[in-house]
Parts: sequence; structure tokens; C-alpha cells
Amino acid sequence: MTADWQRTAFETRAIHAGQEPDPTTGAITTPIYQTSTFVQKGVDELGTYEYGRTHNPTRTALQDVVASLEGAAWGLAYASGLAGTQNISYLLAPGDHIVLTDDAYGGTHRFVAKVISRYGIDYSLVDMSDLEQIRAAIRPETRLVWAETPTNPYLKIVDIRGVADLLQNHPALLVVDNTFASPFLQNPLALGADLVLHSSTKYLGGHADVVGGVVVGNDPEIYETLKFHQNAGGAVPGPFDCWLVLRGIKTLPVRMERHSRNALAVAEFLQGHPAVRHVFYPGLPGHPGHDVAARQMRDFSGMVSFTVRGDFQTAAEVARSTRVFQLAVSLGGVESLIEHPGQMTHASVAGTEAEVEDTLLRLSVGIENEADLIGDLAQALEVLVPATAIR
Ligand SMILES: *Cc1c(COP(=O)(O)O)cnc(C)c1O
Repeated sequence: MTADWQRTAFETRAIHAGQEPDPTTGAITTPIYQTSTFVQKGVDELGTYEYGRTHNPTRTALQDVVASLEGAAWGLAYASGLAGTQNISYLLAPGDHIVLTDDAYGGTHRFVAKVISRYGIDYSLVDMSDLEQIRAAIRPETRLVWAETPTNPYLKIVDIRGVADLLQNHPALLVVDNTFASPFLQNPLALGADLVLHSSTKYLGGHADVVGGVVVGNDPEIYETLKFHQNAGGAVPGPFDCWLVLRGIKTLPVRMERHSRNALAVAEFLQGHPAVRHVFYPGLPGHPGHDVAARQMRDFSGMVSFTVRGDFQTAAEVARSTRVFQLAVSLGGVESLIEHPGQMTHASVAGTEAEVEDTLLRLSVGIENEADLIGDLAQALEVLVPATAIR
């Protein structure tokens, strides 16, 4: 990565950092180096690249731009966000303990509770919007504090600097899953985090056409350990997938501005609707994490959750009735999505401490026209008003 881009603004780095014109042809767009191996000059003269599991120039460009956007020294790209999570777990050993946010991404909770707990790694779930709960959960053997902010699906806010301060004299690493905010809205390393994870499937890619993950950090030893285990384990992204994320990142700033603006409008509309019980959006002044969010985020992103008055059937009916909002898991794409966490993204935590309410719906507000989005929700909720007015 040339140092010059580091002095430019976010929007400029999103387009140029790590992405010099191709030296052989001048192609302005980073080529998709669709190759598994690289020819060496001699048996004792290795080039920069050698084998496609270890590295690939398209992947390097992606790693460098995300590192630049997060203000990090290095980045590593993965086949998925969870492959990045798995790679971070290799920093742990039997006997270690994790403190995990109690409404973590369902797949993160599943990985901790059902996979690595089998290898002698214990964990505690806490409400991380309350720093006291984190302090109480930290043990001498805690090695990882895993935060997500805003959280999924309740959009709770974790005070990143507050958690980093708690860990100042403790060897535990603070990992922040920054997927919901994207690097445009929040940079956890600058607030004291040690590692940042992104599911690039979401806002970084931004077009619902790729699955990927990126981890960034500053510590060179952690980089060496993660890189070694990634190469040894193999969860790498293909060159084309890296290219799709690279292309998505170029428009990240303009997309995040529109996602945030549309989401605020949707949240305000829902808050005033008689069929809606509660709206969870950190951009609303009444949200308990609003002040912390306003301090550590540039804007409030595109995710909005809400509970409807009624029961599970009511929520299911709303999710079936939207037309612009498509019924699907995932998030962060240009198109608006609606989903039922209890049955869909968070089905794997049913019956555990992390279970969610069955009248909860989650929206990934896209970048379509604001009036079309609100009109769509209005028509979907309209059917319910007569039934729910009785309550
Ligand atoms: C989707 C997601 C993940 C997992 O990423 P994949 O790319 O699906 O493996 C992790 N954290 C959050 C917050 C997510 O939304």
C-alpha cells in the first residue's frame, strides 16, 4: 500500500488505497488474478506470490483497502465472516475464557457455544451495553472480549472506548464485529479495540452477490499467528469474490449515507405507527445507546428492528406482506430486506439465553426511494391495525 493514500480522505481511499493501476497493462481496475500458482524465477528465487491459498494479488488489494479504511496496519481476507471468526479463535488455547455479547450474530454465538466450547474454551454471555456486566464477567483467564456494536438484532450500543479502558491492565484482546456500522461509520481500532471483524458479505460488498470476511488489526505478532493459521487451515476467498468486494467498497461512503438517511426515516415512521410496539434504532434520541452511538459513530447505519403488537402470527403476516422489502436473511445490500430473527437468523439460539422475542422483525433498509420504503411498510402494517387496536 502506498503511504500517500493514507493522507487522503475516506472517500478517496475507498477508491484508491491498495489499488494501483495494473503495472503490465495500465488497467485502472484491479485485475481478477484467477490463478492458483505463480511462476518462480528460480528454485531459490521466490517471487512475491507463490501459491493461491497463501496469497493472491486481488486479495492483497482488498486487504490493503480495508486496512486503510479502518486505520489498521494490516488486513486479512477470508472466505466468509465466520471464517475470520474461526481464524481469531486460533489465538485461544484450552482453559481460556471468552466474554461474548449476549445478542451476538447468531452464527458467532453458535460457533462459540457449539464448536469451540468443545475444545476446553469457556464463555460468558453479557449485556455489553452495561460496562459493569463486562467488568464482572472478566476472569484472570479471559483472553477475548467479543463485542458487536450496533448489535444484532436489538441494535444495542457498546461503548468501545469504555470496554477498552476496562481491559487496560488485562491480557484479553478486544475484538469488535464492525459489520453493522462499516468502516465509514465507525473505526473501533481508534477507540482502543485490538481486532476488527467484518462480514464483507454485508455493507462492504453491498450488493448481495458475495460472501466474505475481513479481519484488521495493528499488532504484527497477531498478524503472523492469524496468517499462519489461515494458510494452514485454508479458509481463503477466491480472487473473483475479492474483486466483487473491492468494487463494492468504492461506493461504500455514498451507500452508507443513503442507508442511514432511509433507516432514520423508516424508524421515525414505525415509531409513530399504532401496530408497532417498540422500535430499535440507535439514531432515535430515545434509544438508550443514542448518546454513545452519536459519539463513536459518524451516522447510525441502515439496520432497524421493531416488535409488532400481537403475536408470532402477526409478525409473520407483516413479513409476508411487504413487497419492496424482500423476505430474506442477510443485510447491507442496496436492496431492502425484512426478516424474522426468531425463525430465521437467530433460530439457532432458540431455547438459549440469547433467544429473541417472536414478535420481532428486522429490517435491512436499502438505498431505494424513501417514500417507496415507507409506503411499503404502511401497506403491510395496515392489515394489522384493526386486529391490534383491541389490545
Ligand atoms: C453475517 C454476519 C457475520 C458472519 O458473516 P458471514 O459472512 O455470513 O460468515 C458476522 N457478524 C455479523 C454482525 C454478521 O451480520
